[in-house]
Amino acid sequence: MSHKEFIVDGYERIIHVEHEESGLDAFIVIHNTKLGPAIGGIRCHNYSTNSAQLDDAMRLSEGMTFKNAAAGLNHGGAKTTINSLKIKDRALAYQILGQEVEALKGSYICAGDVGTTVEDLFKVKDATDYVAGISLDSSLPTALGTHTSIKALLKRDKLKTKDQIFTVQGLGKVGKHLIKMLDGKIEAYDPFVTDLEGVTHIEENNLLNGEFFVPCALGGSLNGFSLASIKSKYVCGSANNIFGSRKDIITAHDMGIKYVPDFIANCGGVVAVALDFEKKDYKTALTTGLTKRINKILDKAESDNIPVQHAAEELANNRLK
Ligand code: NAD
Repeated sequence: MSHKEFIVDGYERIIHVEHEESGLDAFIVIHNTKLGPAIGGIRCHNYSTNSAQLDDAMRLSEGMTFKNAAAGLNHGGAKTTINSLKIKDRALAYQILGQEVEALKGSYICAGDVGTTVEDLFKVKDATDYVAGISLDSSLPTALGTHTSIKALLKRDKLKTKDQIFTVQGLGKVGKHLIKMLDGKIEAYDPFVTDLEGVTHIEENNLLNGEFFVPCALGGSLNGFSLASIKSKYVCGSANNIFGSRKDIITAHDMGIKYVPDFIANCGGVVAVALDFEKKDYKTALTTGLTKRINKILDKAESDNIPVQHAAEELANNRLK
């Protein structure tokens, strides 16, 4: 067993754990605990180098600090990355990781992420209680938060969801939950889902022609190319990083496109995980609580005449100052 700790400016703790028998090779990175114990998932991925694995943990942990702050949580950000290529005994590897999390005495609460299963998290739990959201399907609270965001956006213009036609990009886990919550008409494009009841399936090149665009697939859907032809007045979905570049934020603002920033609209998963740790329900936080936060951001953007994205970033950064 090897346990090494590194000091890197801007990060609170960086721990590298290697365990010969199980093949565990993990980096636990706690970026920031200013707002409270850090929360972040365990990503298990086939990393070709140690430095790529460490970079991923550092980048993602910083992202979690920002996301948790923006979500109004009293939690900092952290992340664990495991190299899947080195694992020999998966159950033991996750148990050893659990022991490492336990040794951090609650400064880090871990959770699921890409490549980590519910079974893996139960192995972590054998060694520590600092694990949250084990059996949670995060796509449901994510869809709930996105639904709240869409309603809040429309309500400011005195509009109701039932009178709208929503053009949805992506009918995966979140998209499918979301269209059940939306009571307006649904048109959608997903290359792999083409026969969903109650949905008008459209061609991909019509996605940006409707009044309300709901990106629930890929990032970067608002970019130089799409913004040149988009007809949608409203944009709000679960997809991460909706803007292709920082410049596109300004273009969308100048065009008067109305939206809720992605990291606010899709905060449901992390909010649900944080509240699961406190054994609390997430519904109020992702309805009335989130609506208040969205209105605060939209008010700030309007009063200062700045892009909504900038107003949301300012809110998160102010919490971290
Ligand atoms: P998913 O993989 O279950 O679904 C994505 C869907 O998009 C798939 O059905 C896929 O066929 C479709 N798709 C792929 N390319 C497409 C294209 N060019 N046009 C239209 N559809 C396309 O993913 P998900 O969990 O539903 O997440 C959707 C988005 O929300 C992602 O951007 C994800 O990062 C983000 N998000 C998800 C969660 C969560 O809890 N699941 C939380 C936060 C953010």
